[in-house]
Amino acid sequence: MAQKVIIIGGVAGGATAAARLRRVSEDTEIILVERGEHISFANCGLPYYIGETIKDRSKLLVQTVKGMKDRFNLDIRILSEALSINPENKTVTIKNLQNGEVYEESYDKLLLSPGARPIVPAIPGLNENQTLFTLRNIPDTDKIKNYVDSHNPKKAVVIGGGFIGIEMAENLVDRGIEVTIIEMANQIMAPIDFEMASILHTHLKEKSVKLILENGVESFADNGKKVILSDGTDIETDMTILSIGVRPENELAKTAGLKLGERGGIAVNEFLQTSNGDIYAVGDTVEVVDYISGTKTMIPLAGPANRQGRIAANNMMGKKEKYQGTLGTSIAKVFDLTVAATGNNEKILKRLSISYEVIHIHPSSHAGYYPGAAPIALKLIFDKETGKIFGAQAIGADGVDKRIDVIATAIKGGLTVEDLTNLELSYAPPYSSAKDPVNMAGYVASNILEGALETIQWHEVDKIVAEGGLLIDVREAMEREFGFIEGSIHIPLNELRDRLKELPKEQTIYVSCQVGLRGYLASRILKINGFQVKNVDGGWKTYSSVYGSNIVEIKTNDLGETDIESTKEIKVDTIVDVTGLTCPMPIIKLKKGIESLDSGQVIELHVTDRGALKDLPAWSKNAGHTLLKTEQDEKVIKFWIEKK
Ligand SMILES: Cc1cc2nc3c(=O)[nH]c(=O)nc-3n(C[C@H](O)[C@H](O)[C@H](O)COP(=O)(O)OP(=O)(O)OC[C@H]3O[C@@H](n4cnc5c(N)ncnc54)[C@H](O)[C@@H]3O)c2cc1C
Repeated sequence: MAQKVIIIGGVAGGATAAARLRRVSEDTEIILVERGEHISFANCGLPYYIGETIKDRSKLLVQTVKGMKDRFNLDIRILSEALSINPENKTVTIKNLQNGEVYEESYDKLLLSPGARPIVPAIPGLNENQTLFTLRNIPDTDKIKNYVDSHNPKKAVVIGGGFIGIEMAENLVDRGIEVTIIEMANQIMAPIDFEMASILHTHLKEKSVKLILENGVESFADNGKKVILSDGTDIETDMTILSIGVRPENELAKTAGLKLGERGGIAVNEFLQTSNGDIYAVGDTVEVVDYISGTKTMIPLAGPANRQGRIAANNMMGKKEKYQGTLGTSIAKVFDLTVAATGNNEKILKRLSISYEVIHIHPSSHAGYYPGAAPIALKLIFDKETGKIFGAQAIGADGVDKRIDVIATAIKGGLTVEDLTNLELSYAPPYSSAKDPVNMAGYVASNILEGALETIQWHEVDKIVAEGGLLIDVREAMEREFGFIEGSIHIPLNELRDRLKELPKEQTIYVSCQVGLRGYLASRILKINGFQVKNVDGGWKTYSSVYGSNIVEIKTNDLGETDIESTKEIKVDTIVDVTGLTCPMPIIKLKKGIESLDSGQVIELHVTDRGALKDLPAWSKNAGHTLLKTEQDEKVIKFWIEKK
């Protein structure tokens, strides 16, 4: 006999399941119940429509009711809310929100994909706040966009520095609005660790976004015109986006007596069945198994919701397909940078008391000699004993997505860090290097596994130096002009072999360089000569992303451009292009360029490493040169510097 399936929720998980069910069975009766007016819309595109990167609203509607009905022969009931489930009678009570009619519908199998709703805490003044918005669906989007279009707000506050908050911040800046982000934690973007998030903190500053960390919203005053923070300060605003996270829509499941997990998500087994075998659940509403640690967690992402929808449909039709757990692979655009992560971060591993090792590398996105190469900050976390990959995080202007996707695939394939060295990845100069950043991460991690390299992390350095540890900076002298770790002594790598006699054998020597590579070479020289040595992992670049000394604050507009000193006409005497070059070449070329000039002459410098935005102004100032202007031309940042 033909089966009857009811699906509650018609977007990511629900719509996927409906389409899959039909592809598996032509005679199953499929009823899709959706509270809203739209099904299968592009939640993930909503911020970009508000920012007007996506201009055509209809493009957000991936599938229309008619289109899906015609293609898949579904009974789609929009503006219909499932009010309750009676698992004993196998019925759902549904309310037609257009005419108020309430009726019962029976099922053989039921799928819950009701998603998660934005968390809205009871903040004093919230009800009187007429300009407070949350973002989940098309009506929310219309409200925000209409407000921005018609009221022309000058200032906005975004509460919460997660994916939606950061994407909204960027899109509001795109609309010419001055944005302040308030985040309770000490960092934005929870899936990455602090030192990686620090790169984004700096970038937000470059984009004139004000970031307030470790502070919460206490109340709203003046009908929302004022946001009052926990530390007593207040911020004037014309609008507020509340994006502090989501809570699973678990009410139906709860009242139906289905088992919930600790965090309120619906508990499901590996076949995505709830505690009632005829009721399945998928998407943001379910508790999933963390693929790395095996613990229960909530990971509200579109990819898992879609995969689960398909698996649940298969299983409702009699298959026994297992959901393997969620890795949490995620990505976001943060102005000119991309941030992506997969697997567990250090915070999770610490909480679970799992011991791990970390490496940071800063390779180029593609061959340095081909235009447009930009550095990627890539972090790999792994088990030092077995080489198992726990997770990875990356930030950069280019090529971040594929590196994280390759590592996510490697994790699913059970590959170790040593296997990463053997991955044969596509290469031509515009796309990568013969040794891809993923291979490089594998080499560095393997060196640690083999004992060829010992490292210390960015957060251990200051204490070691303060306690009298010997830290040798092996970079070139001019590189130190751009900043160095306080307390380090300077011996350039090329002089190290000749100066071994100066160094003590009875204590551990620490070495550091720009990104970790020359530090590794130095550590090999020292080790082979009988010294005990540890390298500062990720070098100055990782360390300075958190402790960046002498940062001169410069503000850029949305194009990354700024006039720093004057608007006088600039006559360029020499152009130096250091785009894509790896350290120390950019600094050596800059030095030669400056030396070739007379006082008062101007060098035009082309760079793709965004770190220059904070290093160069500081260096110019210290050296007495004048930074006249910066400008961003696609991925290339241009600096005009007048020699002292
Ligand atoms: C602004 C925004 C941007 C995002 N960007 C990304 C991104 O870039 N990448 C990414 O991976 N994820 C992103 N997500 C998350 C992603 O959209 C969700 O993980 C995914 O949609 C979850 O699918 P779901 O089926 O569980 O829930 P949803 O897609 O939210 O669908 C649930 C539907 O169920 C309906 N419903 C709930 N209760 C009932 C009821 N009782 N009766 C009838 N209908 C009901 C709701 O109206 C809703 O339409 C974003 C989310 C938002 C809001």
